[in-house]
Amino acid sequence: MRIDRIDVWALELPLARPYSLSGGRLHFDRLDSTLVRLDTDEGVSGWGEACPWGSTYLPAFARGIRAGIEELAPAILGQDPRRTEVVYQAMNRALPGHPYVKSAIDMACWDLAALSAGRPLCDLLGGRTAGEVRLHSSIPSGTTAQITDEIEIARDQGYSFHSVKIGGDPDGDVERMRSIDRHMAAGEELTFDCNRSWLPSEAIAVLNTNRDLNRVVEQPCETIEQHLQVRRSVSQPLAIDESLKTLGDLLRIIETGACEVVGLKLTRVGGLSVARKIRDLCIEAGISMNIEDTGGTTLQATAAVHLAQSTPEPFRRATWLCFDKLTRNPVDAGAVNRHGWTVAPELPGIGAVPDVTALGDPLAVYRRDP
Ligand code: MG
Repeated sequence: MRIDRIDVWALELPLARPYSLSGGRLHFDRLDSTLVRLDTDEGVSGWGEACPWGSTYLPAFARGIRAGIEELAPAILGQDPRRTEVVYQAMNRALPGHPYVKSAIDMACWDLAALSAGRPLCDLLGGRTAGEVRLHSSIPSGTTAQITDEIEIARDQGYSFHSVKIGGDPDGDVERMRSIDRHMAAGEELTFDCNRSWLPSEAIAVLNTNRDLNRVVEQPCETIEQHLQVRRSVSQPLAIDESLKTLGDLLRIIETGACEVVGLKLTRVGGLSVARKIRDLCIEAGISMNIEDTGGTTLQATAAVHLAQSTPEPFRRATWLCFDKLTRNPVDAGAVNRHGWTVAPELPGIGAVPDVTALGDPLAVYRRDP
């Protein structure tokens, strides 16, 4: 099987409601996603998607992905997509670094490998484990009233695990955390996600003032080193999300005991091929994971659900379906929100296929030389 053609689409994804994070520092009202289809000489096509959460959340932006794919295309055409690691090495030779640029192509290769094997993708990533995968909501920054209103909307959608974005105003956060904690019903899970907005001194002060709130606190500060400073001084379990970009970052996290939980997002680390290695190492180290992605349609979310579905309990903590926040999602089948839980599709491949007629003309097409 050889890759003959690469089609690339840009897809604007409006959010149903504007979204702020990091205590209101960063604002979003639409996402810019990149969809990739790899056509093969055997008439089978695989799909991939990469959608950073805007341009300000991570060192990644949508037009960078499309420019990067243009660089990568000559190295991809002619490759056997089922040899995912070989393709990945070819991408690394053609464009060192820039992991987020590689995620969509890598995803499409995994889709093709699973289609070719006639198995759902989770069976190539370690095998389907029993049970459903829990979902978490994503509650934007705001006043306590705005946050509790958003939690009610999420509850109506079935969510019982809430990731609430705080940060930016440490004094206000002390009260906000207490009010939101009181708002939780029995059986509900809560994570406070600061998205890098506190200084270590602020994180230590807020969390020690609220030392009786034993909730996971995610990415309070900017770097792993800063998290270590916080880790030594507070009792709450900590999660690292944005600062986990490479396997090397994970080794440092394990070596130093910087956190108990990580956010594992496919696009940020460079796609499924890298994410599954991080997943396996987290299992060995006893670190639980939110296994998800940074945005996108049902296609991108479903790929992450397959990785989560092949990750045993208790290491898979939750996943996130970004498309629950979109007004546009032109994808057939795929993972769905089943009252706050989901399962990887039983269909071969990722099991989520974009509606080509809804995508319009591709932005770019790259073909293998005859
Ligand atoms: Mg996070």
